[in-house]
Amino acid sequence: MGYTEPARTTTHRIRIRWIRVAGLLVVIAAIAIALGSQLLPTLSSTATSPSDVPRSDHRGALGAPGALGEADGAVPDGTTVFDTAVPGVAKLDPALLGALRQAATDAAHDGFAFVVNSGWRSPAYEDQLRREAIVKYGSEDAAARWVATGSTSAHVSGDAVDIGPSAAAAWLSEHGAAYGLCQIYGNESWHYELRPEAVDHGCPAMYADPTHDPRMQQ
Ligand SMILES: [Zn+2]
Repeated sequence: MGYTEPARTTTHRIRIRWIRVAGLLVVIAAIAIALGSQLLPTLSSTATSPSDVPRSDHRGALGAPGALGEADGAVPDGTTVFDTAVPGVAKLDPALLGALRQAATDAAHDGFAFVVNSGWRSPAYEDQLRREAIVKYGSEDAAARWVATGSTSAHVSGDAVDIGPSAAAAWLSEHGAAYGLCQIYGNESWHYELRPEAVDHGCPAMYADPTHDPRMQQ
């Protein structure tokens, strides 16, 4: 029975190796999970932060003492396109509002709820947002990439709406053209305007950001 002893020893050694390998894998997996749990919130917050930019600006406008309120277009949290008591919604262009309501109704059937983070804004409110953006982004040029002025903004004329949350904006990105609702700026996934021709021809090419929009050069 000379063969059994070496065979057992070999099996034993292999088992020990496998235990070591398995132990190492467990450690690697634990490190990966730990790293992943640290990285994932960072990644997801980075991905969602652009859509929080206007939201937080609006909240500041509503909350700061002496700041402009709902009458100037600041909207309460959770405002929908059906909230006609909110001036930011009621003063939108009727054709834009009609298209938004149709889209919101169909999106709801798909399980997505539109929230209006901003709609119509008074010139004073738009200028206040612009001043806040200059402080936030550090210069007039940087702020111009995100917020227009009281005399140039499509929000002031009632022709633009900022839709959230990002899942609802993503629904609109996929289906909006059928309602004439188009994203206008590549850096603002939430900002929509009415382009009736999009129903037949699709949405026009986006501007990279508002500074490329000829309407902003006035
Ligand atoms: Zn906007």
